[in-house]
Amino acid sequence: MDKNNQSYNKEEICKDFQNHVSKFLVRHKSILDIMSKMEEYNARINRAVVKSVTSCGCISINGKKQYFDASSYEDLANVVNSHLEGKLCEVCKENLELEIGNYLFYLGGICNTLDLDLVDIMCKEFERNETLGVYSLK
Ligand SMILES: [Zn+2]
Repeated sequence: MDKNNQSYNKEEICKDFQNHVSKFLVRHKSILDIMSKMEEYNARINRAVVKSVTSCGCISINGKKQYFDASSYEDLANVVNSHLEGKLCEVCKENLELEIGNYLFYLGGICNTLDLDLVDIMCKEFERNETLGVYSLK
């Protein structure tokens, strides 16, 4: 949303995201800064999840051994779980969206620096996943 509360077209934002990053990534333009900022925001995303558990309490994590006893890979999705219980509250959701957005900004920055197209990468990954399905083993 902009200052006039006008929403942007999501498809246009995806297409133009790297140009947007290119205009505003000034201070940390070095690939060294971009790489370290990506690590910083990756840690901040993880920290925000942890704070949602330990400070807010809107979600909890009940980690335990995963049993891969499904008869096929297609059944795995029904057998394994995220170990996550609950749902993010609005405050934690906003915080995580902020950290993930910052991460995406620097992801766009590293793509610009290395002359890679983020949308092309997303499309190729989408196609690989569509082709391999659960056999991509992710
Ligand atoms: Zn919360």
